[in-house]
Amino acid sequence: MTTYSLDFWTRRSNELKPEGLAFVDGRFVPSLSGRTYENRNPATNSAINHIADCDDSDVDLAVAAARRAFEAGVWSRRSPTERKRILLRVADLIERDLETIALLESMDMGKPVQVAHDYELPDLVEFVRWFAESADKLYDEIAPAAPGNLAMIRREPIGVVAAVVPWNFPLDMAVWKCIPALATGNSIILKPAEQSPLTALHLAKLMSEAGVPDGVFNVLTGYGPSVGQPLGLHMDVDCLAFTGSTEVGKKFMGFSAQSNMKLVWLECGGKSPNLIFEDTADLDAAAELAARVHYNQGEICSSPTRLIVQNSIKDAFIEKVMAHSRAYAPGNPLDPKTLMGAMVDAEHCSRVMSFIERGRQEANLVLGGNRISIGASSNFIEPTIFDCVTQKHSIARDEIFGPVLSVLSFDTEEEAVAMANDTIYGLMASVFTSNLSRAHRMSEVLRAGTVAVNTVDLISPLVPFGGMRQSGNGRDNSLHAFEKYTQLKTTWIKF
Ligand code: NAD
Repeated sequence: MTTYSLDFWTRRSNELKPEGLAFVDGRFVPSLSGRTYENRNPATNSAINHIADCDDSDVDLAVAAARRAFEAGVWSRRSPTERKRILLRVADLIERDLETIALLESMDMGKPVQVAHDYELPDLVEFVRWFAESADKLYDEIAPAAPGNLAMIRREPIGVVAAVVPWNFPLDMAVWKCIPALATGNSIILKPAEQSPLTALHLAKLMSEAGVPDGVFNVLTGYGPSVGQPLGLHMDVDCLAFTGSTEVGKKFMGFSAQSNMKLVWLECGGKSPNLIFEDTADLDAAAELAARVHYNQGEICSSPTRLIVQNSIKDAFIEKVMAHSRAYAPGNPLDPKTLMGAMVDAEHCSRVMSFIERGRQEANLVLGGNRISIGASSNFIEPTIFDCVTQKHSIARDEIFGPVLSVLSFDTEEEAVAMANDTIYGLMASVFTSNLSRAHRMSEVLRAGTVAVNTVDLISPLVPFGGMRQSGNGRDNSLHAFEKYTQLKTTWIKF
């Protein structure tokens, strides 16, 4: 990967003219009301552009276009191999535009551009390729019916799928929903978070260029209550795939019940435990991984935010985690050396700071804790660590979604498991140990969609990703993701 200079990224960001119109039926269009909202770069506080502020009338238009395209069969009845070819072209185009996309993500939500460019986006291209390649490898079934009967079980696309996604990994979250749904023949309406619409709009351009027919992929920009809610309540949306907070996820279940019983798939919040046992072979490596809680400004649903350490090694281990955490000192996201950028916006920054203030009352602050200014923006927060946290404290229970690590401690394995499972969430859990039996025991008893042993937060297109309990339902990634965007049809033939 090429490491570019700060000058290079700054010049490129000044040259960019990002799209701000919505994308409906193959064209970039203003909102029907003509309203827009200002999109700001959280790292500089300056305006990037104006974005179409859509509402329920735009939703009606986009759903009608998606339905027309679905019924016409221009995509839904194309052969899976043709859909695969077009989606592989989308992957190639994302790869071609890697620099632009990395910059758009960084300007929109504050993440370090070089990190997005070197790691996140190349990974994303592989996700797109994996889903695309799967399009013509999903076989149907024939049931073992009695002689003279043929019972076929086919997977059909559901129809019109709406994807409502958050701002922390804007393009990843969009791709995780849209590409498997497209691969199986559905039409899509993507609603990016209001804070981060730019890469969704760029993706619309690439979809067209790759040959996805008009109406099959639409992007509606705007706010949750004015675009997300009408999508959730729409009588002609068949499936709603959501990634975001647990609070909003619950609303979508209600919208479905109030409307047409559309399928609702939820990937929601987390408060993931990271258990460190005294028998861990490489405590330095474990500490480096524990400090990754600050990666992406701590704005990660599956981040290991509760560090649960055995008392016998706790003090020495915290020292190591602190040393690694200092590498995440906030900086200009366009500087290739920066590992931690700006929080997504001032409002979220204040919310994280209010948790830090509560943490100061509840526990011992051992690192960071301050909001800082860089240039004209004060949307930066130091990597922060609290020691002597207990499960009663809000910083151990609530999802903060910022660079804040809460350290708890235990003596016995039973105590550690009880603490780890004492949460409304169940997205991810990590365990560090060199005892093989304990590793297997933990993977059985920890209540999480993914358990990672001697690593944290591994994500790959090859395996399902998703949560138990109030972290959600259904799974993104792997062949299981296709279950969300297809429905079973049985056909009996008597002969
Ligand atoms: P959010 O729930 O506020 O918003 C997510 C999306 O929902 C946005 O597009 C938003 O506009 C829309 N929305 C907001 N209010 C709405 C309403 N009343 N009706 C309909 N739509 C509405 O979440 P966020 O702040 O964008 O992202 C942070 C949250 O996302 C965290 O809780 C995090 O854990 C979660 N998240 C989960 C995963 C996962 O895979 N489990 C991944 C990333 C983020």
